[in-house]
Amino acid sequence: MAPAAPARRLLQRPAARVRRGRRVVEAGSAGLGASGRVWLFDLDNTLHDTSHAIFPLIDAGMTQAVVNALGVDVDEANRLRKLYWQRYGATVIGLVRHHGVDAHQFLHDSHDFDIAPLVRAEKGLPAKLRALPGRKVLLTNAPLDYARAVLRHLGLLGCFHSLWGIEQMRLHGQFRPKPSPALLRYVLAREGVQPRQAVLIEDTLDNLRSARRIGLRTVHVYHPGTPFARGHKSRPAYVDLRVNSVTDLLLRRRPLRG
Ligand SMILES: [Mg+2]
Repeated sequence: MAPAAPARRLLQRPAARVRRGRRVVEAGSAGLGASGRVWLFDLDNTLHDTSHAIFPLIDAGMTQAVVNALGVDVDEANRLRKLYWQRYGATVIGLVRHHGVDAHQFLHDSHDFDIAPLVRAEKGLPAKLRALPGRKVLLTNAPLDYARAVLRHLGLLGCFHSLWGIEQMRLHGQFRPKPSPALLRYVLAREGVQPRQAVLIEDTLDNLRSARRIGLRTVHVYHPGTPFARGHKSRPAYVDLRVNSVTDLLLRRRPLRG
């Protein structure tokens, strides 16, 4: 179903620009619905199964983009990727900080493939998300164009009030992707909600741990393909609810009420 015109206009623009227009009112506490709840959804391995086919392409695309940007061989590109991912949480941050690489160009080059034949997700997700009362916000460390393409393919673009990609996760000129507590506080402020009103839904435990520290509720979407996921058989104390799917979340969200 096509989104309503105002929502579509809003989604044409990144979340970071929403505040500049009169739509700041919509990004605030108005429009939360009776539930007063804001659902911050991760994208990869949360709303769709990225491990199935997309991660390998992103992996190859990232290495090649580093090769192209820095003029290094594949081994050196992989070494730098690992170094920057471990140090900063995202390769692009190290490339910008230490090599002056253009972030937008790198993000484009590393995700430059057609996602349509590769996306795999639960059936009926648009109806399921609409059945969840409250505002939905996408919060992904992936590039915005990629996120938008996946959501569009899944028919989910109209379900989201605003979209946060890594390009929007800049504070004081520096990238601050998840799990940065400063980023999470910034998102909440921009969305006009208190931490206790917000729920982060994620496959990555580090991000959930950080969200809990600043007062958000947390839902762990277990995905066996997520790095370090297999080592966690039980629900950590900082996770309010552990689910296997969005369907599961709909059926079992009672612990998140109140
Ligand atoms: Mg994820």
